[in-house]
Amino acid sequence: MDGIVNFITGIFDAWRGQASDPGKQCVFAFLLLLLALDIARKGWRISWSRRAVESVAATLAIFHINIVLIPGLWLLSGEIETLYGLLGIPSVPGAVWGNLPVWALSLVAILAHDFANYWNHRLMHMKWLWPVHAIHHSDPVVNGLTTYRVHALEMLVMWGSYTVLLTWLGLPADAIGIGALILLLHNIYVHIDVDWSHGPLRMLVASPRFHRWHHADVPEAYGKNLANLFPFFDWMFGTYRVPGPCNAPMGAAGVPRNDVVQLTLWPLLEWSQMATRGVQALRAVLPGWLARDTGVREPRPLDVKAE
Ligand SMILES: [Zn+2]
Ligand SMILES: [Zn+2]
Repeated sequence: MDGIVNFITGIFDAWRGQASDPGKQCVFAFLLLLLALDIARKGWRISWSRRAVESVAATLAIFHINIVLIPGLWLLSGEIETLYGLLGIPSVPGAVWGNLPVWALSLVAILAHDFANYWNHRLMHMKWLWPVHAIHHSDPVVNGLTTYRVHALEMLVMWGSYTVLLTWLGLPADAIGIGALILLLHNIYVHIDVDWSHGPLRMLVASPRFHRWHHADVPEAYGKNLANLFPFFDWMFGTYRVPGPCNAPMGAAGVPRNDVVQLTLWPLLEWSQMATRGVQALRAVLPGWLARDTGVREPRPLDVKAE
């Protein structure tokens, strides 16, 4: 009973905290604006189809699960910061940034943040971290709220890397805050269901078309368009792919679509299956290795004489 009360109190406190934060108010207003645009473009019935409602409901549930887990994640993020401090790696002296205006410092923060995003994201698309990131890709109806469909473990990896990189850079807190808000608003924007490509600026600022190709559930799109804001990182590191308008299906084959419980447990389920398969593969090859090490040769088909 206490657990349920704590859960509800935690959600209520989080909402109250968000409502009084100007940055969060800005995000909320932006989401409402995008929702109004979507309804104006498609009409209420398509914008709020059963598929869309199921998708949004699952995303909101994941968002609230994360709200409850966030204090623990902050704690772990603090531990990462402390561990990083113990390594004694010299950071960039604050005086380096002394004379630059806030907008320029925010740009540096965004550039650094997005560089970290690119490599985090690239790691997330590799075998062992994919079960964590697959939750973001599970959305069959990609929309502005999909930004918030992220597994808590992914948030921890992201925060850990930002903490290390931004601590090392020694940027002032206001520049980091402004940069993070711009990145969040842009991240919401690239998830909306429009085919805007940004024309000649397409390599400079990621468009909804660029990110929809990232969510496309077709093999040729897997692991492509990994940058959040700057597509030139993809161009530089060989993962850029925008062949034209994206009409491919959204989602991730083999991953539950809107089952929140399964999605939350998905990394653990997948990792245990991968570990089991690894043990089975080891058991299959181990007798051969042991025999080789002990000098006992396994009979080969040619050694077997016909009786
Ligand atoms: Zn991804
Ligand atoms: Zn996305």
